[in-house]
Amino acid sequence: MESAWDAVKALASGFATTFSHLFRKPITEEYPEYKRPLPARSRARIILTRDPDGGERCVACYLCSAVCPVNCISMEAAERGDGRRHAAWFRIHFGRCIYCGLCEEACPTAAIQLTPDYELCKRSILDLVYEKEDLLVDHQGKDPEYNFYKYAGVATGVADKGEHINEEEPVNIRSNIT
Ligand code: SF4
Ligand code: SF4
Repeated sequence: MESAWDAVKALASGFATTFSHLFRKPITEEYPEYKRPLPARSRARIILTRDPDGGERCVACYLCSAVCPVNCISMEAAERGDGRRHAAWFRIHFGRCIYCGLCEEACPTAAIQLTPDYELCKRSILDLVYEKEDLLVDHQGKDPEYNFYKYAGVATGVADKGEHINEEEPVNIRSNIT
């Protein structure tokens, strides 16, 4: 049977724990005064990046739109005189986006990227519809070196056949005959 002394000891031990917490530094982080830095791989607001030459990376291939499970990406493709494709307009409805990152995985040009910026709260749902001018940034995001047109075999003035990165010289078919 528990004695009165045991009860006092249990009570004292409980108070000792409470008392020890009185002198600890609080660990509460007061948002929004303090914004915890998030890892670069965090998935929140989406941007459209540029290649190191400053050109738009997006070639309007529709892959991100096709893979998006909630159909919140739409665009219209256009082509410049030199054959380089781009999006005439590009739209993301952040009210529907679930930040799954599949669009970034599917993108062949590293154009579309998710960022750690999670502060997307708006009073009106329509304010969460971002147009191309809201999405396009002036930097390369997570992939500072990648330049799709220096790998792709499209003659857009960036490089000639055989001059793209990792590309072999064109084969002279006549030399194969002899
Ligand atoms: S993160 Fe997912 S839901 Fe959001 S736009 Fe990309 S594919 Fe769609
Ligand atoms: S963002 Fe990427 S996947 Fe989407 S249309 Fe542009 S190039 Fe294609």
